[in-house]
Amino acid sequence: MKENTNVKHLVMYSGGASSAFVAKWVVDKFGRDDVILFFTDTQWEDEDNYRFMEEAASYIGLEITRVVDGRTPEDVFFENRFLGNARHAQCSEELKVKQTLMFIENMRLKGEEPIIYFGIGPNETHRADSLRFHYTHLPLDPVEVRFPMIDSMSTDIKARFIIENEWGIKLPRMYHLGFHHANCGGRCVRAGMHHFANLYLVWPDRYAEFEDMEERFRNKFELDVAMMKREGTPYTLKQFRLEVIEKMSPEELHTYAKEKDVEAIPCFCSFS
Ligand code: SF4
Repeated sequence: MKENTNVKHLVMYSGGASSAFVAKWVVDKFGRDDVILFFTDTQWEDEDNYRFMEEAASYIGLEITRVVDGRTPEDVFFENRFLGNARHAQCSEELKVKQTLMFIENMRLKGEEPIIYFGIGPNETHRADSLRFHYTHLPLDPVEVRFPMIDSMSTDIKARFIIENEWGIKLPRMYHLGFHHANCGGRCVRAGMHHFANLYLVWPDRYAEFEDMEERFRNKFELDVAMMKREGTPYTLKQFRLEVIEKMSPEELHTYAKEKDVEAIPCFCSFS
């Protein structure tokens, strides 16, 4: 870091409890003036995530710095003629990663040097490692990243409990609705079958819209593609609904929906 550089503490404010908790910790440690609550908005978040973010920001005493590309993930898929999927999600790359890099570049043009903070806990050190790798192998100069919940806080910190009981802020509703991945309102192209079964169970209309998007994409570009794969071939949400979900009893669906997708790919969006 150059001498006399103006350091800014850039908290990746993702809409989750951990990132809000880390934001408060950073403000308590460094004061508000040099802290930025940074949020890259895909415009697909659940409305209650937006409510939580606003209430937590207000408690912390900072405005959210919201950066928005202007396109939704669906816009990105149709524009690129490529349907995002578990292996390649260019929605994340264009709406989050690229926006973050542009923001960092602009900070540096103003003589500011970011230190980036993530709300990642001690049970997710592998994610911290991959983020550290990411931010040291950028097309820009490397950026320092910090993980206060791993390196600086007590290991048994109960962020969710403290936010609800001490801050008096209700957690985003998706926490209580069985979603293991709470970004993009449950419509993440990287999610797996159990997650999509939960989406069908909790918000069937949202599942129907997502299924419709996948069908429109396939028809428009006449491509046999899907967000999911089964036995190595594309497996659409429509097939999944007809062949699996609608054949289950309500009890079976409920049990299936609450299981975790072990093969789901950890998404950069969970922390950004
Ligand atoms: S959460 Fe999923 S759908 Fe949303 S931008 Fe990230 S990868 Fe894409």
